[in-house]
Amino acid sequence: MTLAKQPVLVVGSVAIDWIITPTDEREESVGGAATYFSMAASYFSPVRLVGVVGQDFPDTAINDLRGAGVDLDGLEVQQDGLTFRWKGRYHEGMNDRDTLETHLNCFEQFSPKLPAAYRDSSVLFLANIQPKLQIDVLEQVERPKIVGLDTMNLWIDIAHDELLEALRRVDVLLINREEALQLSAKNNVAAAAREIQKFGPKWLVIKQGEYGALLFEPGGSVFAAPAMPLENVVDPTGAGDSFAGGFMGSLAHSGELSSTAVRTAVLWGSAMASFCVQGFSYDRLTGLPRDAVTSRHAEFVQMMALDRGR
Ligand code: AMP
Repeated sequence: MTLAKQPVLVVGSVAIDWIITPTDEREESVGGAATYFSMAASYFSPVRLVGVVGQDFPDTAINDLRGAGVDLDGLEVQQDGLTFRWKGRYHEGMNDRDTLETHLNCFEQFSPKLPAAYRDSSVLFLANIQPKLQIDVLEQVERPKIVGLDTMNLWIDIAHDELLEALRRVDVLLINREEALQLSAKNNVAAAAREIQKFGPKWLVIKQGEYGALLFEPGGSVFAAPAMPLENVVDPTGAGDSFAGGFMGSLAHSGELSSTAVRTAVLWGSAMASFCVQGFSYDRLTGLPRDAVTSRHAEFVQMMALDRGR
């Protein structure tokens, strides 16, 4: 059975970031895993967003999300609260960054209540946020068919058991290389993947920044996709979430978890991540003409082709 063009439900951070790169700085950059995810996924399938913001969250960002067709009935606005804030500084070359500050603010007490219309969602993405909130949302969805999850080192450190509980119920895990090693307590990426598959997710996407992504499939096969070599990386924040948006959006569009569908999704994810890093915040992910998205995808296919054709 396929579920062609299902809406994808996402829960995750919606944030105001303070980004410092070696050459530039943006103090109030709208970010958050669910924001980037939604913007990227909206090119492929309808998106329903579950999250929380405070009174300081800009109306312009709400309008941008709505403009992209994202359903915000599940976004709570706390008039007496402050939005999640994160501050990070990138090193020279932009491959590494330090987290300087994290303020959970309204996410600290957040208890998601899904709008009734969201409960039948069959495609679900648990973007990066406390694992407890990921589980809360998972429990309110009646019969999810495709469940993806992303996480980060902080939650592997401080919410390990809850994260493992969430992972037991997940089909696809998207995770950075370093985080995969940390989660599995292995020092080799293939061994880490095999170990993590035992925790629950049978499909594993290991993101390796500028070196692309590896997909580990249930039967043991591996697919590798490059990242686009770009000279003009402005701000890598949200690359992983935009990858996840393109990836899950594509899966929701095709409605299947076959090897071909998941490999295809990896290339759409790679294409959306490559747009994201070319601007601050979600600047490059708004208003992309369909042609721009499909030609970026075609560039990825070309990068992997043995015969360039004529
Ligand atoms: P990425 O670059 O894909 O890892 O995502 C960066 C986004 O993650 C930023 O916009 C941050 O607001 C958000 N973020 C950073 N730390 C956390 C955290 N502990 N939980 C949830 N989201 C976070």
